Amino acid sequence: MARLELNDPSLIKSQAYLNGAWVGEPQDPILNPADGTPITSVPALSEVEAEAAVSAAYQALQPWAGQLAAVRAAALRRWLEQIRQHRDDLAKILTAEQGKPLAEASWEIDYAASFVEFYAEEALRIAGEILPSHLPKSRVMVTKNPIGVCAAITPWNFPAAMITRKCAPALAAGCTVVLKPAPETPLSALALAELADRAGLPQGAMNVITGPAEPIGRAWCDDPRVRLLGFTGSTEVGKLLMRQASQTVKKVTLELGGNAPFIVFADADLEAAVEGAIAAKFRNTGQTCICANRLFVHDSIHDRFVERLAERVNELVVGDGLDPETQQGPLINTAALDKVQKLLADAVAGGARVLTGGKPHPLGGTYFQPTVLDRVAPTMAITQQEIFGPVAPVIRFSSEAEVITQANDTPYGLAAYFYGRDLGQAFRVADRLEYGMVGINSTALGSVAVPFGGVKQSGIGREGSHHGIDEYLELKYLLVGGL
Ligand code: NAP
Repeated sequence: MARLELNDPSLIKSQAYLNGAWVGEPQDPILNPADGTPITSVPALSEVEAEAAVSAAYQALQPWAGQLAAVRAAALRRWLEQIRQHRDDLAKILTAEQGKPLAEASWEIDYAASFVEFYAEEALRIAGEILPSHLPKSRVMVTKNPIGVCAAITPWNFPAAMITRKCAPALAAGCTVVLKPAPETPLSALALAELADRAGLPQGAMNVITGPAEPIGRAWCDDPRVRLLGFTGSTEVGKLLMRQASQTVKKVTLELGGNAPFIVFADADLEAAVEGAIAAKFRNTGQTCICANRLFVHDSIHDRFVERLAERVNELVVGDGLDPETQQGPLINTAALDKVQKLLADAVAGGARVLTGGKPHPLGGTYFQPTVLDRVAPTMAITQQEIFGPVAPVIRFSSEAEVITQANDTPYGLAAYFYGRDLGQAFRVADRLEYGMVGINSTALGSVAVPFGGVKQSGIGREGSHHGIDEYLELKYLLVGGL
């Protein structure tokens, strides 16, 4: 493995962060997916510590919520400064535990920091309203108040950005947080907690608990003091948590799985569409919720498109993410590798053709060759499940109506993309795609400034933009009479 050299090695934590203290015995090893070597170990905490974290967050709630917005904003800005100061170390930690190339990890740290910056500012803009009253000599006021203690459960594919995308708006709104990162990638979350600690965030305002998901998730769902559960992960687990959270009627915000269509119309700029497909499919080794999962290409340009796509895919440099040349890292674990191989074998058995790739990479471990498949049918499992790997399945289509029907024929509704130059068609297709986000001649959907989220079984609620902070605020109406 390329060596993990940090300017500040104390950012690698082996304990969880509870009520402003580092707790627990290192127990579960965290492995570098590039070569399987252990980086460190973290505690396997239980429902006892999960409950203690809620108690700490509950105790910290009123003092934090009662602070001036400017005080909360200043604390977030100090956290931001710490994150920026340690950007390179945070990126290396992220690559070491997750596998993505260092350039992508550095992008993710900037993305993570952008949520802290944006919501530090947004804290100052939480305003209520005065509405026309229904009674004489009275006033009707509406205030926005922090929802309370928030629980956050996050996945391994964006181990830093998913932390700040939840914690920053929650803290800015005056909420306090208990968080469980994914077991594969807790080190980014713990390093961010260490930096929050250095920034002087009050004790108990943000707690990071590591350990088995089920008891921790259940403890938080069952606890009536937790008022919001924010989850990013698979649709299956999202549904389970939604059921569990219903017992205490919590608010849930869910950022779940996707099955993004990527449509190339006949009049598309072919080169731009190919580059878009590379970005939307192969980023993070195909392991993002908004990854293109099904490429629909119009008959008239299909052959030229797949030929050019295969050429570009062949140029991708696969390797250890810490190597600066690397453009595609390993998959997160062997289960991910097995899933990709199974979906691919099923597609090939059903008549799909491998244009390039198609096999585990000679580097071994969990590396897989970037792959392009054509002759794919929309009935194949590879087009119905999230592949979460570097395989681009291409399906031919001949009419707009046909491709819209196929694109919408999935329980998911997170992101969709299309390339084409006809403006009338662009708005028509955008209107008809049942997705929370649509990239038109662009794939760069991720930004702090936009409302990120899905419809159908891809989620509830939005993260990012001014809409993102509203999830953490509750309206209260005051009627003032006798004036
Ligand atoms: P996952 O299996 O659903 O796990 C996500 C998190 O939930 C992990 O921390 C996991 O811990 C935890 N979890 C699992 N079972 C749980 C339970 N019974 N109670 C409480 N927590 C539980 O998803 P993943 O494989 O890590 O992540 C990939 C998925 O996330 C994909 O479907 C992807 O599309 C989605 N995603 C969506 C977005 C978005 O914004 N929409 C962003 C990123 C990823 P354990 O691993 O210990 O079980």
